Amino acid sequence: MTTTPDTSTLSTLDSGCEVHFPGDPGYDAASTPWNLAVEQRPAAVAVPRTIEQVSDVVRAAVAAGLRVAPQSTGHGAAALGEGSLADVVLVRLHELTGVTVDAAAGTVRVLGGTLWQDVAVAAAAHGRSVLHGSAGDVGVVGYVLSGGLSFYARRHGVAANSVRAVEVITADGDLRRATADEDRDLFWGLRGGGAGNFGIVVAVELGLLPYADVFAGMLLWDRERAPEVVRAWAEWSRTAPDSATTSLRVMSFPPLPELPPFLSGRDLVVIDGAILETDERAAEVLAPLRALSPEMDTFGRIPAPALLQVHMDPPGPTPAVADHSVLGPLDDAAVEAFLAQVGPGTRSGLMFAELRHLGGQLAKPVAGGGVLSSVSGEYALMCLAPAPTPQAAVAGRAAAFSVVRAMSAWSRVALVPTFAETRVDASRFYDGYDWAALCRLRDEVDPGRVFVANHPL
Ligand SMILES: Cc1cc2nc3c(=O)[nH]c(=O)nc-3n(C[C@H](O)[C@H](O)[C@H](O)COP(=O)(O)OP(=O)(O)OC[C@H]3O[C@@H](n4cnc5c(N)ncnc54)[C@H](O)[C@@H]3O)c2cc1C
Repeated sequence: MTTTPDTSTLSTLDSGCEVHFPGDPGYDAASTPWNLAVEQRPAAVAVPRTIEQVSDVVRAAVAAGLRVAPQSTGHGAAALGEGSLADVVLVRLHELTGVTVDAAAGTVRVLGGTLWQDVAVAAAAHGRSVLHGSAGDVGVVGYVLSGGLSFYARRHGVAANSVRAVEVITADGDLRRATADEDRDLFWGLRGGGAGNFGIVVAVELGLLPYADVFAGMLLWDRERAPEVVRAWAEWSRTAPDSATTSLRVMSFPPLPELPPFLSGRDLVVIDGAILETDERAAEVLAPLRALSPEMDTFGRIPAPALLQVHMDPPGPTPAVADHSVLGPLDDAAVEAFLAQVGPGTRSGLMFAELRHLGGQLAKPVAGGGVLSSVSGEYALMCLAPAPTPQAAVAGRAAAFSVVRAMSAWSRVALVPTFAETRVDASRFYDGYDWAALCRLRDEVDPGRVFVANHPL
């Protein structure tokens, strides 16, 4: 027998904090995540505007016997949506935003629901940049505390290594500040252990990078050229310097009037990323790929925040399903297996199949780092399909899995948390000893298992 949770303690919250219950006019909009393929039906949705309101929501939820799921954007909602949210208060953090740069200290303080685009712009005003991912509308906290792979990554490592402090509301409603000197175990676990497992993060402090501008862009060919381009990039990436972080995608776009002609209705192969060198040296690094005469070449020096446009991620909420694996070295047979799935003449049904180049500094654990200070493997494979209907989602999942399965001879056990869209065995993100320590930490910090993360420990 299912019982309806008593949500009355939430109704009495400070009026500045919106709370929506099933059946309320605002409930559907408030519970809709960025990934529109995911339906979330929580017991209530709270939208706090202040740190105090976050604390009040947690206390009220616990008093009501409910669990709490923090969410900034819902980019990572697919895994969360696989579990029942019937006894969960979804805490949407998009109203808790703010960015304060301390240029002298080389840090930026960011409130819990802030998006990367706002941090990149604020940092650029001081001639600095940050370890954001490919899309500006991803939330800082969900990304950075799950590792975070940027286009600076092969030179600067995972974004979690740039975290200097985390302020988190735990299950008792109290605020804890974790740094290298205070609450050190929690600081270790939060940096890669998935923020949502320990509490609601209301602020993080991050180190800034010294780049006002960056050599970045994309090279684009028709998919007919995929065999030579994929082979050339695989070979190039074996010896590319750590300063170059690139991705190769085989992409398919429907014929849509809102798309530019070079994308609309086309199958393409695209290489993009950043090369942290002088223009002259970057051109030398890129030369073997430019020698393949791309139809379009946008590589050049751009202001650092413009790096958020290079990957051409969707401009807003989108319904999608995806699958992922981490691959070791790509030999000729691996390249052929990839092309057999998504190369010329195939109809994979995917929006893209991506190979993100790992290695470099990403592969090196950092002394004093968190539970996830490095990423093993040579390439992250990410396959994504549009999912405008439940039927399309089923077909899309099968299509994405088909490529992951075809590459299984080259895949590792490890997974990258930010690329794991579906709920997976989270122990695959960590090594065995760290996994056990992380689970013990979770039991200490949240013994009542109040918090629900997209990738639970
Ligand atoms: C278009 C697109 C491009 C992407 N590009 C990259 C990329 O280049 N590199 C990369 O590494 N990843 C990338 N990602 C993946 C993305 O980083 C992850 O999905 C990330 O988890 C999203 O964080 P979010 O806060 O926006 O999402 P949410 O779904 O809101 O959060 C994800 C999880 O983080 C936790 N969380 C979020 N906010 C808080 C908080 N304030 N307190 C506590 N817990 C919190 C929760 O557990 C939540 O379930 C991309 C995703 C998309 C859709």
